[in-house]
Amino acid sequence: MARIVGIDLGTTNSLVAYMADGRPCVISGRNERAMVPSVVAMTDNGLIVGDAAKEHLTRSPERTVYSVKRFMGKSLEDVQGELAYFPYHLTEQGGVIRIKLGEKTYSPPQISAMILKELKQRAEAHLGESITKAVITVPAYFNDSQRQATKDAGMIAGLEVLRIINEPTAASLAYGLQQKTQGTIAVYDLGGGTFDISILKLKNGIFEVLATNGDTHLGGDDLDRQLADLFLKDIRERYGLDLSAYPDHMQAVRLEAERAKVRLSDVMKTTATLDLPDGKGRYERDLTRDQLESLTMNLVERTLGPCRLALKDAGLTPNEIDEVVLVGGSTRMPLVRQRVQDLFGKVPHCELNPDEVVALGAAVQADILSGGTTDMLLLDVTPLSLGIETMGGVMSSVIRRNTTIPAGAKEMFTTYVDGQTGVDIHILQGERELAKDNRSLARFRLKVPPLPAGVPRIEVTFLIDANGILNVLAKDMRTGQSQSIEVKPSYGLSDSEVERMIEDSFKFAVDDVSARKLIEARLDAGALITTTEKSLLEGSHLIASDDIAATRTALAVLTAAKDGTDPRAIRARMADLEQAAKLLTVALLNDSLTKGLQGKKVSEVT
Ligand code: AMP
Repeated sequence: MARIVGIDLGTTNSLVAYMADGRPCVISGRNERAMVPSVVAMTDNGLIVGDAAKEHLTRSPERTVYSVKRFMGKSLEDVQGELAYFPYHLTEQGGVIRIKLGEKTYSPPQISAMILKELKQRAEAHLGESITKAVITVPAYFNDSQRQATKDAGMIAGLEVLRIINEPTAASLAYGLQQKTQGTIAVYDLGGGTFDISILKLKNGIFEVLATNGDTHLGGDDLDRQLADLFLKDIRERYGLDLSAYPDHMQAVRLEAERAKVRLSDVMKTTATLDLPDGKGRYERDLTRDQLESLTMNLVERTLGPCRLALKDAGLTPNEIDEVVLVGGSTRMPLVRQRVQDLFGKVPHCELNPDEVVALGAAVQADILSGGTTDMLLLDVTPLSLGIETMGGVMSSVIRRNTTIPAGAKEMFTTYVDGQTGVDIHILQGERELAKDNRSLARFRLKVPPLPAGVPRIEVTFLIDANGILNVLAKDMRTGQSQSIEVKPSYGLSDSEVERMIEDSFKFAVDDVSARKLIEARLDAGALITTTEKSLLEGSHLIASDDIAATRTALAVLTAAKDGTDPRAIRARMADLEQAAKLLTVALLNDSLTKGLQGKKVSEVT
């Protein structure tokens, strides 16, 4: 099987990882760095991506796109509040955002595809083989169109996206938490520009998102800004120099602030140094971790509010959280770790590199999909409904689409014809109302003893295991006889086929429902005709001949109407027949009660 890579397509940085000898590892580029800045720039020599593009952020901001993830799957209206943050130009075409780069405009998936292509090439160079399949992560709060836009980006980059998984789920997978089988997990993700908190529930190896919260404009960059402001104020006071008039120096201040902040995660004090313009020499400033912490305390505290809200939404108290996972470069700050630990009352997982943990988890998921990691459960949902064909060629769903697997469901069925000696179990997959429009997966026959229609009780059980294997068991509840079959519903089914089947179900919904209603009306009419004919045979002597004649007329009318195409007309004739045959029905019932129950009478049947 072709190798599947795991990709963290981040707002600020992106990474690609793969499974090597049972362990996930990230792939570095020629510069030894694993992170590819999620930046695309248009230069005179064409488009460039990553580190080289990042250098253009200050040089040609209007031709350098960053944070494109914020625009994935959105319309211009959705992001009005964001526009002030971005120097590049956005327009809209057909409800989809377009980003202007030089003379051309690009959609967010096209820009993301450039980043993905860079990661794909990096993986190909490292592994010496062509890479065409990937698992890509997205924030847990991404909606369908944002997820679809991410898939589109993969497709444009020449990658088949086998699965889109949630970033907090990936982080949990990287720590192997799925092996614990149960528990609640808080994933605290503080990156450069965004903060996300997700509360997950793990049950039998399946992760469910209970709540998410966060702040889309809070991250390490804000901490850098606090520190940079301190330096700028200091320089103004010491040298009477306002650096805001010097864009290059402003950028240098910001970068030095970030470097000093990063150093203070490891040491207790450091010295920040900067070259000043106009021959003013060199600025130096000593800084302690305590000083940094008091400067940034408010920002760190601002992450705790969303954590409390997410806990509240999940209906949990902090001490009900079993595991805390840290994601994002800013969680290396000792103050951040301490505050998270204080809130949840447990030591968070931070053994793995917080910048890499999401990509590593994506590689674990990729490995599960390629069948490499067999002792882990597959985290999946059924993409299409599974069910059986019932009388008249109608699909009866047993497990609905998007059910998390492993999953199981039972339904009771019966026979429609007197003396039937077997029932055909035809297993179907799809969203359409009629069996013939769905995918046929398998069929088998269960023998039943001949009995009147409606008497046998056949229990059909569908079970899908963690590997997506479907087991269908049909059991005759009277005799205990059973028969089963195993199929793999995903076999030979591509993502595009799944999408087409779902689209078709919307496209043909109205026609399908009418067809189903007609079939059901005809079946019900058929059953009523049969029972009325039987009643006439058994009970003609019990009622007046006028009533018999009226019943026969209504019966003939329904028999003719049954072959019509309007289910409402059939139902109306059924109601007529039921009304005409009411006396006959009551008479037969009273007759059998008189015989069976010592003369107790009913006067009316409702
Ligand atoms: P991410 O978006 O997850 O790559 O996170 C990037 C952010 O993490 C930037 O704001 C970095 O300054 C910050 N960061 C990286 N390493 C450290 C560190 N050792 N201490 C504090 N912040 C860091």
